[in-house]
Amino acid sequence: MKYSPGRHFLQIPGPTNTPLPILAAVAKPTIDHRGPEFAELGLNVLKRIRAVFKTSRPVIIYPTSGTGAWEAALVNTLSSGDRILMFETGWFSTLWAKMTKALGLEPEIISGDWHTGVDAGVIEARLRADKQHAIKAVAVVHNETSTGVASDIAAVRKAIDNAKHPALLLVDTISSLASIDYRHDEWGVDVTVGGSQKGLMLPPGLAFNAISEKAIEASKNAKLPRSFLGWDEMLASNASGFFPYTPSTNLLQGLRVALDLLEEEGLDEVFARHDRAALAIRRAVEQWGFEIQCRNASEFSSSLTAVRLPEGYSADALRSEVLQRANMSLGNGLGPLADRVFRIGHLGDFSNASILGTLAGVELGLKARGIPYGRGGVDAAADILLGNSSPIAQAAE
Ligand code: PLP
Repeated sequence: MKYSPGRHFLQIPGPTNTPLPILAAVAKPTIDHRGPEFAELGLNVLKRIRAVFKTSRPVIIYPTSGTGAWEAALVNTLSSGDRILMFETGWFSTLWAKMTKALGLEPEIISGDWHTGVDAGVIEARLRADKQHAIKAVAVVHNETSTGVASDIAAVRKAIDNAKHPALLLVDTISSLASIDYRHDEWGVDVTVGGSQKGLMLPPGLAFNAISEKAIEASKNAKLPRSFLGWDEMLASNASGFFPYTPSTNLLQGLRVALDLLEEEGLDEVFARHDRAALAIRRAVEQWGFEIQCRNASEFSSSLTAVRLPEGYSADALRSEVLQRANMSLGNGLGPLADRVFRIGHLGDFSNASILGTLAGVELGLKARGIPYGRGGVDAAADILLGNSSPIAQAAE
């Protein structure tokens, strides 16, 4: 493809923009993964990644994508024929459920509407009815990347506890980790699944399992075949900073710097920055007069917004226009949302200028395609980014 001048705006909901200090660390010469320098790196990142999951227990780091970490969560804790309760929040929960079938598990899927998040009350009712404890795990997606809906994981924990059910809780945080507050230990999650390419600001290629004591116990009796993804050998090697096979050395070099950047900014400020950006984006969408895919204000995702175009307009045509005219990539609609929504990623490494530039790029595309929209989206977003929640009141001053 012909070179497009100017920096590409990668505004898909992951992979995200990688900051230069991380890229520089990834580009450093590869080191001996069995030598002392690597052991120091391994111990460093394995210890510090725990804070991002808010856990004091081990986090496994795989050289794989998020899908590999989904599989790891299942094969390490469950046996063939085990029942697993899942909630359909959108495309990614559906894919995870498909994987459970392929692995010989029996998913029981609570249907959803792709506009709202996990209904903990329905989970509680189902678990209460499961007197024999046939359900071995509950698996949910914290932040559904296809719809921009974030679910209340603490409420799911409470539902399991209220039902006095022993099921494990497995949670996908691939598009929320290091962007939206998440507490593995406090929320009693047994396996948290994460990936490197979103809030952690790294290229794709690392994926994570944060694991509870109960999950480790379950892994001792779990019978699904596992080899590469097995926790036991990994934990044994990780104790001295090493891996049972060749790790993604350079991505781990990048991870060390990503953790530096997150620590420097502070996780609370990272979350606040994402919340502000998300609110600014939503204000602009309101100004444009378009519908947001997420229906409940309490479930708005802080890492992405899925925007519905009015009937008769193609979201994919808009995305192509934006790519061509603004050198900016927006996320496509997935599954039944194909061509109906476009998704704006606002996660990882971004500034106020990135957010305003993103909105301006969308407006350029809307204008170019002749899609009717309310003017002033960028301005409305700027007010939010400046902390002026009531621009009208301010104008009156
Ligand atoms: N789960 C969620 C919520 C995701 O957003 C993604 C990817 O975007 C995945 C799972 C799959 O991860 P990967 O594409 O890294 O395998």
